[in-house]
Amino acid sequence: MTNANQSSDSIFDRIIRREIPADIVFEDEHLIAFRDIAPQAPVHVLFVPKRGVRTLNDVPAGDAESLGRLLLAAAAYAKREGFAENGYRVLMNCNGDGGQTVFHIHLHLLAGRALHGFG
Ligand code: AMP
Repeated sequence: MTNANQSSDSIFDRIIRREIPADIVFEDEHLIAFRDIAPQAPVHVLFVPKRGVRTLNDVPAGDAESLGRLLLAAAAYAKREGFAENGYRVLMNCNGDGGQTVFHIHLHLLAGRALHGFG
């Protein structure tokens, strides 16, 4: 699949292709998860689809599955790592006002400290 909304050469594509290193904590045929290079919490993992569009705005209306996979992978990771009951936060930034800096869609998973507010 190639179109203008498709991310094919983001820094995350380079991690997926193993061109640059990352601390990978999970991978399957659809997605990869690795530790954020600038963690905002003791646990900060990014869940990244292997065939990623640039932003949430670019996800086709019929592709709820790709978004659902990211959420379910994050929840499964939280359960495996033992912090699901204490709690965690998942979030996705979109474009400039949302604070998005890497234009390959990804879900942040933050945990390991109390996360209050949205600052
Ligand atoms: P966002 O601001 O939502 O686009 O999030 C992008 C995230 O990617 C930021 O939290 C960065 O710290 C993180 N990031 C950027 N480059 C890398 C990298 N090479 N390895 C891991 N995380 C990265």
